[in-house]
Amino acid sequence: MTDWCDWKWQFRNRIRSLEKLALALERPVASLAPCRPVIRSYPLAITPYYLSLLDPADEKDPLRRQCFPDPRELSFSLGGMTDPLGEERTMAVPGLIHRYPDRCLAIVTGDCAVYCRHCNRKRMWREKKPGGVRERLQAMVDHVARTPSIREVIVSGGDPLLIPERMLDWFLGALQAVPHVEVLRIGSRAPVTLPMRITPELCAMLKRHRPLWFNTQFNHVREITPESAAACERLLTAGIPVSNQSVLLKGVNDDYETMRDLLYGLERISVRPYYLFQCDPVRGTDHFRAEIWTGMEIMEKLWRTISGLCLPRYVLDCPGDRGKIPLQPFSLLPERRDGNIHSFEKSPQMD
Ligand code: SF4
Repeated sequence: MTDWCDWKWQFRNRIRSLEKLALALERPVASLAPCRPVIRSYPLAITPYYLSLLDPADEKDPLRRQCFPDPRELSFSLGGMTDPLGEERTMAVPGLIHRYPDRCLAIVTGDCAVYCRHCNRKRMWREKKPGGVRERLQAMVDHVARTPSIREVIVSGGDPLLIPERMLDWFLGALQAVPHVEVLRIGSRAPVTLPMRITPELCAMLKRHRPLWFNTQFNHVREITPESAAACERLLTAGIPVSNQSVLLKGVNDDYETMRDLLYGLERISVRPYYLFQCDPVRGTDHFRAEIWTGMEIMEKLWRTISGLCLPRYVLDCPGDRGKIPLQPFSLLPERRDGNIHSFEKSPQMD
């Protein structure tokens, strides 16, 4: 049990092969043969912790869907692209995406505790980065330092909490030392897939680099466990606000009740629902992409029924400087055109 709570043990014992996956499923490895070409293109990684949350025998389990390889990852019927947001084109230096004038995003590693099958950077899982990590991070700091319009740096990946802690400490400190950098942000799914990574020592280190914001990705209420809630609580206690960026995923959270339960759960653990992303047209994720209209209908119902504190912004991320386009329900627009404000007065009010 001591090992179970040790994030390094969890990381070392990730399921990385079909043989180990077959053991977990309690079925012959031959039955997973269709998945072999999948993991050649898109590797497999699941922490024992995340595996313990799902029902391996249930193909429809929403957590299983997020982490088990699926032969549909290799059928590109909808013509997905490896890099639909054109991130590679907007890299100022290797790994540093600079799409907006006032902020940039540093990809410090391509590795993750769990490889989410819907990931929009799954192209990076197999990439070997040239040169040493320290040199790459230094080149990012240098770009930030010579670009006065940058006031915020998002440190992401992959999962930035998987690089050595001392290196992350140095990187955050070097960015913070740049006079025009006002705010840092961490993007990590560790609270969901490897919550024991959020150690008191890590939180103490992150605390030194405030103002620092933390964004994570819960996609289903069953991912909110005593462990993940405690991980978020440790960050919050260190004065680090935690927000959530879900992805709308077919068969995982693309119905009103499931989304509502997730949002209520986030509110209970003081994690602010920030964005709900329309799933990007990434190659290998076609089977996860729900219709935009499905998302709009869910948002419409949420707007009418749940507290504004629980409401994320539903957005579509677009390439280049078009950025994030808000997707808003339109049901009240005809009434506005008629100039009939009484219908607004009768509508349930957001509190
Ligand atoms: S943790 Fe994030 S970067 Fe890593 S596989 Fe999942 S979605 Fe992709």
